Amino acid sequence: MTNSDDTSGAGLTRQTKVLHLGRDPDGQNGFVNTPVYRGSTVLFPTLERLKSRKQPFTYGRRATPTTLALEAAITELEGGSATILTSSGLGAVSTALLAFVEAGDHILMVDSVYQPTRAFCDNMLARLGVETTYYDPLIGERITGLIKSNTRLVFVESPGSQTFEMQDIPAIAKIAQAKNLWVLADNTWSSPLLCNPLRLGADVSIQAATKYIVGHADAMLGSVTANARAAKYIDNAKEALGTCPGSEETYLGLRGLRTLDVRLQRHMTSGMAMAKWLEARPEVARVIHPALPSHPGHDLWRRDFSGASGLFAAVLKPVPEKALAAFLDHLQLFAMGYSWGGYESLVIPFDPSSYRTATKWTDKGPALRFHIGLDAVEDLQADLAAGFERMRGA
Ligand SMILES: *Cc1c(COP(=O)(O)O)cnc(C)c1O
Repeated sequence: MTNSDDTSGAGLTRQTKVLHLGRDPDGQNGFVNTPVYRGSTVLFPTLERLKSRKQPFTYGRRATPTTLALEAAITELEGGSATILTSSGLGAVSTALLAFVEAGDHILMVDSVYQPTRAFCDNMLARLGVETTYYDPLIGERITGLIKSNTRLVFVESPGSQTFEMQDIPAIAKIAQAKNLWVLADNTWSSPLLCNPLRLGADVSIQAATKYIVGHADAMLGSVTANARAAKYIDNAKEALGTCPGSEETYLGLRGLRTLDVRLQRHMTSGMAMAKWLEARPEVARVIHPALPSHPGHDLWRRDFSGASGLFAAVLKPVPEKALAAFLDHLQLFAMGYSWGGYESLVIPFDPSSYRTATKWTDKGPALRFHIGLDAVEDLQADLAAGFERMRGA
């Protein structure tokens, strides 16, 4: 944990910030990057130092120069007061939720939340005596009708996982603040660069750093950033749960950060080009991308976000399973796989009707989530065009 006051970079643009945050070449014999500190035990030279509790590093689980560097960088980029790192994005979600709830509490969870977050609420939180109510992502200020005397927090994720509904975070946060509730946001789609939920009124912003921060599909990592009011809660949860990331993974997070801005720009332009191309295809019923004017939440995206990442969905017109398989099975550049945020292009079918409870998914055709990687758009279009050709022939 670090105070944002300790970090450099205030006043610089994000493009420059991502290069300089969390680095101290003078402290590393001139080497450009903060190295991987591996370690558990930290030695104290004297009894006085041991007892003073003033040594900056005391134990590997608590902090190393590597974890401190990435925490400081994310804190600054999210506009927060403190950050803790976790060994996965889901670990960040569960640690953040556990930081604020106790037995007898009630929480409000967006219906379009990342599915394993939902499973954590339905299994672990339920077992601990915490009740979850799922709400319509489009609820906005009508969230007020769901707040009970024991409601502790509201969890938002915008755009929603798989279905990309846009939430009015400021409207929700205003009501939550008036009722003294915490607002937690899963900000993974945006990374810390395209949206800052803390500036929109949330208390906590969560990243599956596995996705865009690491950016190369080679490590699992998560972060939880809190404002001043929430900082001690996340620090207490980190201490109590023994949450800490791997040293190598933390380094890969720092390394990914250096190219995050330039990668996101490519993800955005290629993602939008692919979304528009798909929207014009006769096989496609609709494309769900917040940066397209056809998206019902487009105005919220324009108001609250400074860009788009490379993840969106498309719903095809109904086709037999065999035809869908013909499309998916022989793609050359798009691969099927969970997760996203790396340089590679991905596609995965999904069916929200199987788990949503507060909203209904009425589309009839197969839904596909696309992650547009760093490949050239014309190559990706040719890959999908050939897939549609196979689909028609099946
Ligand atoms: C992937 C993801 C997570 C979980 O991250 P892991 O690192 O895979 O545990 C959490 N939230 C969202 C929105 C995600 O997409």
